[in-house]
Amino acid sequence: MLEVSGLRAGYGPVEVLRGLDMAVSGGEIVAVLGANGVGKTTLNKVLSGVLPATAGAIRFDGSAITGASPDAIVSAGLIHVPEGRKIFPNMSVRENLELGSYRRGKPRRRANLERVFETFPRLRERIRQFAGTLSGGEQQMLAIGRGMMAEPRLLILDEPSLGLSPLLVEEMFALIRRLNADGLPILLVEQNVVQSLEIASRAFILENGIFAMHGAAADMRDDPELRRVYLGL
Ligand code: ATP
Repeated sequence: MLEVSGLRAGYGPVEVLRGLDMAVSGGEIVAVLGANGVGKTTLNKVLSGVLPATAGAIRFDGSAITGASPDAIVSAGLIHVPEGRKIFPNMSVRENLELGSYRRGKPRRRANLERVFETFPRLRERIRQFAGTLSGGEQQMLAIGRGMMAEPRLLILDEPSLGLSPLLVEEMFALIRRLNADGLPILLVEQNVVQSLEIASRAFILENGIFAMHGAAADMRDDPELRRVYLGL
């Protein structure tokens, strides 16, 4: 569904992504894992059309989207959920959510809102509250809810577990699994290797701008090298 080949990108003379090949098929959760500063955010920026690729190609649903505008990418249904702090703090929960569906007519927006509230009853209870006053976990839910408002065909989640307590991290991963079980393919970009490998079907390890390792998540969980480097085991 999403196919990345030979992807390169960076900032001026600094090349951050140095030739990435990856694919996400319908129904999958695919994890891109890596430590701080390896290029996860840069990959997200390129996939959402905010930063141009310097080489390579991105295809979504069979069409080339390399060089497409963020707007066109969103219209195609490739929806990027930034980490939870990137909501609009001075707008209400409802206003934040409605922004996710701004291009839809009112009936669609209302139906999408209802679907989000079914998934996140907590957001319904806080519908008029300023988003900036939500807890970290609630802000993360709001960011995902806003992504769902856009009627995604594939959701890219940027560090959804960032800044959450261990219990909330568990809940967040359970939620991601549930969204996927309902039929939504997910690209999960995370630092949390252990829990990501539990819910993903496949994973890619990003190191210094290349995928140093990739494979079935179940195999990677047992890989001694990976356990040594990433889990300190
Ligand atoms: P983190 O998990 O810490 O957010 P990351 O994997 O998302 O890290 P990126 O933000 O993609 O990493 O950064 C990758 C590299 O690109 C870093 O060395 C960073 O300093 C560099 N970089 C990021 N943005 C810019 C920029 N606008 N100009 C120059 N270099 C940048």
